[in-house]
Amino acid sequence: MMRLPWFKYHAPASVREAARILAAEGPNAMPIAGGTDLLPNMKRRQQTPAHLVSLRRVAGLKRVANGTGLTLGAGLTLAEVVGTPAVRAGYTALYQAAAQVASPHLRNMGTLGGNLCLDTRCLYYNQNEDWRRAIDFCMKRDGETCWVATGSKRCLAVSSSDTAPALISLGAKVRLESAQGEREMGLADLYQNDGIDYLARRPDEILTAVQLPDLHGWKSVYWKLRRRGSFDFPVLGVAAAVRTAADGTVEEARIVLGAVSSRPLLTRAGELLIGNKLSDEAIAAAGEKASSAAKPMDNTDLDLYWRRDVVAAFVGYALREIRGEDMRDTRMKIARQDL
Ligand SMILES: Cc1cc2nc3c(=O)[nH]c(=O)nc-3n(C[C@H](O)[C@H](O)[C@H](O)COP(=O)(O)OP(=O)(O)OC[C@H]3O[C@@H](n4cnc5c(N)ncnc54)[C@H](O)[C@@H]3O)c2cc1C
Ligand code: SF4
Repeated sequence: MMRLPWFKYHAPASVREAARILAAEGPNAMPIAGGTDLLPNMKRRQQTPAHLVSLRRVAGLKRVANGTGLTLGAGLTLAEVVGTPAVRAGYTALYQAAAQVASPHLRNMGTLGGNLCLDTRCLYYNQNEDWRRAIDFCMKRDGETCWVATGSKRCLAVSSSDTAPALISLGAKVRLESAQGEREMGLADLYQNDGIDYLARRPDEILTAVQLPDLHGWKSVYWKLRRRGSFDFPVLGVAAAVRTAADGTVEEARIVLGAVSSRPLLTRAGELLIGNKLSDEAIAAAGEKASSAAKPMDNTDLDLYWRRDVVAAFVGYALREIRGEDMRDTRMKIARQDL
């Protein structure tokens, strides 16, 4: 049985108090929300903070404000996000992404903020300490070499959050708070293409809320590829959001890929659609463009080349669903691995 390392547990009641503890303890402290990612990582000694600052009892992190757009507190569990009527009604990509994270138990514990700050993943890293010691560790923790690309100066571990690509496609912003004050940034800017330094968030900052614009006139979807439909991490996520004119001409479009690099990948495929209707030809061209941008590495589940080739098909499924086609059979086939 793997045991947790020793740590000091803090249970602040406010964001200000949590921020003060994080500032005082420095990089030795980490926020913990549901703990569904951080605690297994600590058991495997991938992350060993001396102080855990719990956000579970912090007031205000479960706020839902529905005015011009939608504000979601970072402390909402994924089950609560899925159960928020405004999410289901107006932000389908987020609804579909959150509903497909892990399993019901994990969605009852795991939070939106934790999902957005999820550690990057790699087959050479998400292993217990003895396994990693046997390969002399790797650059992401305790070692020097990247075993996925031995010449690489950068860790290529994979961004595996389902809600991040969905929220980027929806144009979300996030609020960060620390003892130094508050700041806001586009969610896309929170991520860096570096498997170790994957967030632009400072260690003393708490992600407090996600802000979504009013998306009247937009349609959005999220498609996920994984081995087991019941609870696996994505090996590919495709989020698409499109705004069309009354005659069906695309006026704005964003297509974001998850699990193909160390950050969610906002592709230029959406730009190809602007000024066109969602014809088979336009959809195929967008799929090819997204596929050419995806450079997955051999460090997650399923065959590397197949994962890259299947990007175009998944972008096609997403855009056909936005076009109004009934894609339920295809979704069922993917869940049954009958592709
Ligand atoms: C078996 C299994 C399957 C899983 N499958 C999926 C999946 O399919 N898709 C998926 O996306 N995830 C998956 N996960 C990962 C995880 O369960 C979810 O991502 C979950 O949403 C993480 O949220 P949490 O609140 O538990 O985060 P925690 O574990 O508490 O924290 C995760 C990270 O975020 C930081 N953090 C948390 N909240 C904040 C905040 N408000 N501000 C700043 N930093 C913060 C923590 O310091 C930590 O670094 C899976 C996990 C397991 C164990
Ligand atoms: S991509 Fe390379 S450095 Fe990063 S976790 Fe995997 S093996 Fe380690």
